[in-house]
Amino acid sequence: MTLPTMNRVLLKLSGEVLMGDQQFGIDPAFVLELAKEVKAAKETGLEICLVIGGGNIFRGMSGAAQGMDRAQADYMGMLATVMNALAMQSALEQLGVETRVQSAVQMDQVCEPVIRRRAERHLEKGRIVIFAAGVGAPYFTTDSGAALRAAEMKCDALLKGTSVDGIYDSDPKKNSDAKRYETVSYGKVLADDLKVMDASAVALCRDNDIPIVVFSIREKGNVAKVLSGEGTQTVVTDHTA
Ligand code: UDP
Repeated sequence: MTLPTMNRVLLKLSGEVLMGDQQFGIDPAFVLELAKEVKAAKETGLEICLVIGGGNIFRGMSGAAQGMDRAQADYMGMLATVMNALAMQSALEQLGVETRVQSAVQMDQVCEPVIRRRAERHLEKGRIVIFAAGVGAPYFTTDSGAALRAAEMKCDALLKGTSVDGIYDSDPKKNSDAKRYETVSYGKVLADDLKVMDASAVALCRDNDIPIVVFSIREKGNVAKVLSGEGTQTVVTDHTA
């Protein structure tokens, strides 16, 4: 399927892709590789908003499963996303790409707060805006943060870079016959509980008609390929043509 003309996209990267081959945390060399991918995407003329998860450092659900107060654990998860955003900012700026980090949890000494009009101005000036701390509230994830910022910033698509190259009808790591969807509707993703993004994020994209493009960020050059329509991906949309 051909994607709509894209001028501005929201790129969501799961925290786990920042680990590289490690089991935990941030691998700066790998973050630099990711930053090169983001830079290449930007060089196609796109305006880019970036949202990075925190699962490589801390997830609220795992903290809660070990007896922590859920909200408290989620605050820790949000702080993890700010650390990742700063790591990505540093890598992008090493490559000469101007960026600003805006956090949904205010941290004046470290980054800007989320201010839509200011973010607009950054994009106009050719900067990449990295939105940190998700929606700024516990019981949410950075997928919801990504959907919210994609809607708020009027992005043409939400690109979700993960370690899998799309959405399958069953887990491709467990089932060799698993089939990848080229396109799939929001309704099917929700009804079949296809693990792409959490339900609130999918619903927000559906309500605002924002296509979700799921692709592998681990493959070199893939962001640019996906943007040019030559990559391997699954598009979540209600438009089939
Ligand atoms: N989080 C939150 N509210 C948000 C975004 C994130 O509480 O709006 C917390 C939550 O605990 C989550 C953690 O931050 O588990 C890390 O984010 P996420 O799990 O979305 O990261 P990813 O899976 O994308 O790496």
